[in-house]
Amino acid sequence: MMNSKLSQRAAKVEGSKTLELTMKARDMRKQGIDICIFGSGEPDFNTPEHICEAAFTAIKEGQTKYTPAGGIMELRKAISDKLREENGLNYSATQIVVSAGAKHSLSNIFFTVINPGEEVIIPVPAWLSYWEQVKLSGGVPKLIKTKPDNEFKLTPEELELAITPKTKMVLLTSPVNPTGSVYTRKELEKLAEVIVKHDLMVISDEIYEKLIYDGEEHVSIASLSQEIFDRTIVVNGFSKAYAMTGWRMGYAAASPEIAKAMFDIQSHLTSNPTTFVQIASIEALRGGQESVEKMRNEYDLRRKRIVEMLREIPGLECPMPKGAFYVFPSIEGLIGKKAYGVTIESDETLCQLLLEHAKILVVPGSSFEMENYVRLSYATDMVTIEEGVRRFKEFVIHHVEELIHT
Ligand code: PLP
Repeated sequence: MMNSKLSQRAAKVEGSKTLELTMKARDMRKQGIDICIFGSGEPDFNTPEHICEAAFTAIKEGQTKYTPAGGIMELRKAISDKLREENGLNYSATQIVVSAGAKHSLSNIFFTVINPGEEVIIPVPAWLSYWEQVKLSGGVPKLIKTKPDNEFKLTPEELELAITPKTKMVLLTSPVNPTGSVYTRKELEKLAEVIVKHDLMVISDEIYEKLIYDGEEHVSIASLSQEIFDRTIVVNGFSKAYAMTGWRMGYAAASPEIAKAMFDIQSHLTSNPTTFVQIASIEALRGGQESVEKMRNEYDLRRKRIVEMLREIPGLECPMPKGAFYVFPSIEGLIGKKAYGVTIESDETLCQLLLEHAKILVVPGSSFEMENYVRLSYATDMVTIEEGVRRFKEFVIHHVEELIHT
């Protein structure tokens, strides 16, 4: 047999399971199968018209050439203003590096600050690209299982216990994908104390900051003190708030030293993110924000409806999320039971059965490193939500033995 031609680095990486599942479901739909998709975290709304118009105009005006690798100054200035006005963060425009999506910003960060063998603490459940990116950069992801009793949020005690001499940084997200949890100011203050005490760095992924409900407040950990500000790299992007997933636009804000290194690394790997998308992103930030609020209100209605319906399904426990556009119910009550002659041994088996028999796509919690949970994205229309969750309920009450209601 021929030896693998893959590098050790490539051999360690797994593809994105959420994207893979969503693509599979979309293929099934193309084949004419009626399927309700609760898969990837992608707004179903179109990008607001004024942002599209800005891109059209930019193309027509010939804004189709290279720009500085880390983005044009006008956009970096607009981001710097946004961070100051909305988040209380003082970054100059030169401390902002604009990239092709927050995913790209994150990989730039790991390549910029992680030495081989250094550990990155990641509370889980979490977005699955984090640990793959850490591995790719030569670092070691240190996954900390958080507890449902604390809404799956990392506690200062859990953080302390996870720190070793090799720990370089902590990765925090708020609101969290996949749980929808939101860290409070107090919780962040306590975590910041530990981070400063051990002289660690922190990445604060704030991509869902605009999607917050029930009057909760988004707080950037970087805003809490000068000491934590100096140790934080803030990551954000346009995909979720402005329904701009396909445009690929995100950014990081960091110390001058790190920002410059990220800029230089990006200059060799990808160069600038798409020029006319940068122009459209200025419009997203500086133009009217009504559409953001309109989408948030719609997500809020869907959130309440999907939770109400999921709570009617026997074997499930569904907390009310406070942010993002995901629900993360426990399916513990279905584990070990049989459906269609198959024992539901794990969340993955359940998701396969749901896809095959109920024709709904739900993502296994184990993809986010939390077994016996599933994630449903409610960034989809109300008709799909109602029909999909109705199918889930019907599957459980008519096909899961011991729970069958006659
Ligand atoms: N961070 C989190 C927590 C996410 O859930 C996602 C997308 O799902 C991203 C970052 C990446 O967003 P993008 O690369 O589209 O800006």
